[in-house]
Amino acid sequence: MSSNNTPSTYSFKDLGLSAKLLDKHAVSITERLVNAGFEAYLVGGCVRDLLLGLHPKDFDVSTNAEPEQIQALFKNCRLIGRRFRLAHIHFGRNVIEVATFRGPHVKHNKDTSHAHKDGRLLRDNVYGSLEEDAWRRDFTVNALYLDPQKQIVIDYVGGIEDHQNKLLRLMGDPETRYKEDPVRLLRAVRFKAKLNFSVEDNTEAPMRAMAPLLKDIPAARLYDESLKLFLNKNASLVFAGLHEYGLFDALFPQTGLCLKNAQSDNALKLIQQAMANTESRLKNDQGIAPYFLFSTLLWEPVRKLTEQNRDSFNSDSQALHAAANEVLARQVNSIALPRRLTTPMREVWTLQPRFHKRIGMRCLKFIQHPRFRAAYDFMLLRAQYGELDPQIADWWTKIQTLNPNEQKLLTRPKSFKNKKKPPKKSDNESSSSE
Ligand code: ATP
Ligand code: MG
Repeated sequence: MSSNNTPSTYSFKDLGLSAKLLDKHAVSITERLVNAGFEAYLVGGCVRDLLLGLHPKDFDVSTNAEPEQIQALFKNCRLIGRRFRLAHIHFGRNVIEVATFRGPHVKHNKDTSHAHKDGRLLRDNVYGSLEEDAWRRDFTVNALYLDPQKQIVIDYVGGIEDHQNKLLRLMGDPETRYKEDPVRLLRAVRFKAKLNFSVEDNTEAPMRAMAPLLKDIPAARLYDESLKLFLNKNASLVFAGLHEYGLFDALFPQTGLCLKNAQSDNALKLIQQAMANTESRLKNDQGIAPYFLFSTLLWEPVRKLTEQNRDSFNSDSQALHAAANEVLARQVNSIALPRRLTTPMREVWTLQPRFHKRIGMRCLKFIQHPRFRAAYDFMLLRAQYGELDPQIADWWTKIQTLNPNEQKLLTRPKSFKNKKKPPKKSDNESSSSE
């Protein structure tokens, strides 16, 4: 596919689009830019999603106005970014991103653009025309420009046709485009799952071979991408896609290795179930905790390492703590999990041995633990996939339904249960007999 100077244009009517579905703030931004003599369009994911009848996550604006010119027009504007210098226009809690058209990186000078020796783009701040802006995007379906005033969509890249055929096609030579930015590999998997599109053959062919390039992506960026990959209603398909293209191992090398060497598929099933649970919670408008999902993704290496190191420690619990620390320390080299995630992840893991103790006050106190609920949900997954006796899981499910007296009876040591009249100090005594 080559650059062609006359774009195709489609009316809203041709495409079945309704102006009512456009975000009013984004439309008002384009209006003000156009009234000031600039070009301005809605672009990217919002156009792609509207064409599918989906509700866009965010509306992005693209314009030939430069950041300082945008800032001069909007009081509520802040300029951000290094890699891409962007304007953020604030409406209460909502932010609309306004980006200046970018050009191709080949004609760059040193100050504005910069490619790594392996072809990766490090900075990309060369302004360009609308057409150039379209060609530097990733997939054709992400390079459609919607003009809210004229009620048309402008297509330089064959994006409408690909959209109609449900195809994800990278513009240009796919291998070069993946080398420029290997995160496009993850985006291909994510959009394939989200949109139920296919990856066009040439775009798909190099994906497996390119997977190792993800190792060079900063861990902080991979953290952002991993949230987008897994915290959505298509998490299972995304997970399957990452596996299919060998990308999962680049994100979670330790888990990848464990799954490869696993003797049963229980560890894999546990992760798949966690993904399915995430999806159904989101579909039911229930909240999800990212740390929970990450704790399932890294559990198998933690479990394995605990087992391997068991003899070097005085207790299972110490071995588990040490394994948790080691697995996390290695994982943050790939994905920069912040402490607000690693702290509760570690807690969910290290609380697991407490489910094996079902006698005494300590287990009643456990139910009050702030992280009990998450640890319990995690234990249920483990029980479901053969790591724990299902009777134990049932016991913990049951005890939560009992009143305090019934709970005390259930957790009393067996020696007391056999006596008709338990002694008064049974609580303290039973806790010490755990
Ligand atoms: P969603 O918001 O649903 O995740 P999106 O397509 O809007 O999807 P964003 O990350 O918001 O994704 O990016 C907005 C647009 O910027 C994309 O549609 C695409 O045109 C362009 N873009 C984003 N990331 C890249 C990239 N790595 N390479 C090239 N173009 C990109
Ligand atoms: Mg977007």
